[in-house]
Amino acid sequence: MREKNRKQTRLLVATLIVIPIGILVLFTVLFFTNKMEEEMHTQLVQNLKDVAHQNEIALKNQIHSNELLLKGLASELVSDTDQAETVMQYQRFVEEYGLKRLGFCQTDGMTVSTDGATTNLSRRDFFKRGMQGKSSVSGVLQDAMSDEHGNVTVMSIPMKDEAGQVQGVACMTYDSDAFNDSLQMRSFDGEGCSFAVNENGSIMVSPCNDKLELAANFSNMLAANPKNSDSVKEMWQKLRAGNKASGILYLNEADYYYAIPVPLMDGDVTWYMFTVVPKNYFDQRLDTVRETLYRMDAIVIVCILAGVFLTVGIFRKQRREAMRLAYTDSLTGGANFAKFCFVMGALRNRQGYLISLDIQNFSNINIAAGRAAGDAMIMDTWKVLQDAAKSNETAARVQEDHFILFLAEKNKEKLLDRVDRITKQIHALAKNMQVPGVYPKYGIYELKENESVEDGYMKAQTACNYLKSDRTKCYMFYDEINHDEMLEEQSMEERFDEALAAREFEVWYQPKYSADGAEIVGSEALVRWRNKDGSMVSPGRFIPLFEKNGMIARLDEYMFRSVCRQQSLWKRQGYHILPVSVNLSRASLYYSDLVEKYGNILKEYQLEPEYVQIEVTETAMEGKNDILDVLGKFRNMGVRILMDDFGTGYSSLAVLSMKCFDTLKLDKSLIDHIGEENGETLLYHVICMGQQMGLHITAEGVENDKQLVYLQKLHCDDIQGFLFARPMPAGEYESLLVHGIDTNN
Ligand code: C2E
Ligand code: MG
Ligand code: MG
Repeated sequence: MREKNRKQTRLLVATLIVIPIGILVLFTVLFFTNKMEEEMHTQLVQNLKDVAHQNEIALKNQIHSNELLLKGLASELVSDTDQAETVMQYQRFVEEYGLKRLGFCQTDGMTVSTDGATTNLSRRDFFKRGMQGKSSVSGVLQDAMSDEHGNVTVMSIPMKDEAGQVQGVACMTYDSDAFNDSLQMRSFDGEGCSFAVNENGSIMVSPCNDKLELAANFSNMLAANPKNSDSVKEMWQKLRAGNKASGILYLNEADYYYAIPVPLMDGDVTWYMFTVVPKNYFDQRLDTVRETLYRMDAIVIVCILAGVFLTVGIFRKQRREAMRLAYTDSLTGGANFAKFCFVMGALRNRQGYLISLDIQNFSNINIAAGRAAGDAMIMDTWKVLQDAAKSNETAARVQEDHFILFLAEKNKEKLLDRVDRITKQIHALAKNMQVPGVYPKYGIYELKENESVEDGYMKAQTACNYLKSDRTKCYMFYDEINHDEMLEEQSMEERFDEALAAREFEVWYQPKYSADGAEIVGSEALVRWRNKDGSMVSPGRFIPLFEKNGMIARLDEYMFRSVCRQQSLWKRQGYHILPVSVNLSRASLYYSDLVEKYGNILKEYQLEPEYVQIEVTETAMEGKNDILDVLGKFRNMGVRILMDDFGTGYSSLAVLSMKCFDTLKLDKSLIDHIGEENGETLLYHVICMGQQMGLHITAEGVENDKQLVYLQKLHCDDIQGFLFARPMPAGEYESLLVHGIDTNN
């Protein structure tokens, strides 16, 4: 449920981020698209203007160059006496400049022209204007002087004498179409067109006469289309006032136009230069640009969204990877403790039991079957737990051979049934590997409603640890723990330093005898804790505790020092001292400066190394080859090494082959089986083997004569056991040393 909520929240957050980004991107893109469209439109209009101005200049130049020619000829002609004759000579200009003819109108209108015709043109406007002293360019006229009656345009100027009196009118006649062609005013891929309209609205120049016929009346054309009504009036007003005009006109279809008034011939004539482009042409261009822009927009949006999704994707993938690393156990690939806590946090119903599972003697698998088999055992155990957990339950590997399990059972009996099933499966796994003595142990704790999983696990583990020394049961409920005992352990830990300083730890000696019991050959130093109130605490109560918390190393050193001090004292007192063996725990052996430190203690008390021996348990050796090094150094120093509790560990034979000790101390459990056939056979072979390897054999825990006789028969060297002597305080042992063996014992 919580996971679902979390997913929904994440989705909401992602949506809240992606949607505004998407909208922002969309608006930005649309804004820029719009801007670019406007820019494109402005650009096209600017192009229209540029073309219009270009054509204005072309028109002006064309008219002006003709005007100059006409003026030059007129000035010559005005003073000429035989004008008709002279005019004829101007034929070469006609050919040179592509004119139709040049003519001279006398004041009465009679006109002589270069092609030899004579006509009266007194009714023509250009003549009348010329006589008024004004230059002009006619509209498109029908040629009156030729039989072809083609379209002509006549440019005329007054011919003035030196006094400024008009003496006639000089005129130049063009073929209107030729004039058109010389201007070449098409543009915009041939779609656009520039044309000139005179003040009457008559089209004077039109290279695009497919659309706008020469001589047609432009004003009338416009007026014919009602869509032009308002804009046209305004346009003419502007143009007549000498201003430029632009906008849309409807000829056949909608056209953008740009119009410029063009004053010609010293301002006597004004034409309006129109440049038009079909609106379609613009729209097509804009559409193309728009299409490109939209495509680009789409690509940009897709890229940005792809980027966002990619980033989100990478982020999620990395998060998943980080989660996987944080939540996955490296060996099993399953859940680790962090994942366990996470899943527990997401469980709807947490009513049930937390179970801490440790595999007892797991190291036996590593030793006997190898590390790979140990790993396989861990993985198979994980599978068993994974299968055991139902949908509302969970499991994880915490570390090494420690697992945690949550079973949502309310009923203790059902819970224990399930635990039993798990035990059988794990037990079978170990059996398949042919490694005995491996079994799971459980600490069980009923989780309280608002209690953290970490706290609950600590309690389950406390129960599991508590169980370790108890071989009769494989599970323990936290509630069953003897809390007084636990408190006592805590108190012992707290009092340790003080007790050490106050010499509350005493060395007791348990003598070792020759096999015939005739003489003491040495002793073992065994620690005892005498409380302030005089009560005595046996090592079984505190040694395992101090081994667990590492305090044992200091206690071992204290014992070693005490033994050295005592031996040295007895020696100085002139007693015949015998070797005393001191126990060293596995934890003590880890200190790198151990041998040097102990060597210094020996030197400090000026004690020969043969008077102090070291006992190391067989289990301390398991899987620790570097301990061999330490033991080797002790032996080089002259200190003998005794292999304690031999026969209890799993790797007895392996240890035997290490050849790093001098004495085998047979564990009491081996001695206890004397009288049983199998036990005796085993003991027989162990002793034979030891003897063949040249080891000294000490039997420990010898309590009766039967055992003694059998051991004597096997030529065991020394006997340590209650049969001869129990551990005793230093004083008692001292009297034994002095007075010899109490024969009543
Ligand atoms: P351990 O080193 O195997 O010592 C022999 C234990 O067997 C002693 O128990 C001794 O009292 C007991 N024992 C000897 N003969 C007999 C017998 O005939 N019958 C019975 N039932 N028991 C017998 P203790 O003194 O209670 O010591 C228990 C263990 O505590 C020792 O086993 C040793 O592992 C550890 N220990 C004792 N003192 C020290 C110490 O100074 N340092 C360390 N690291 N461990 C110590
Ligand atoms: Mg011992
Ligand atoms: Mg022992």
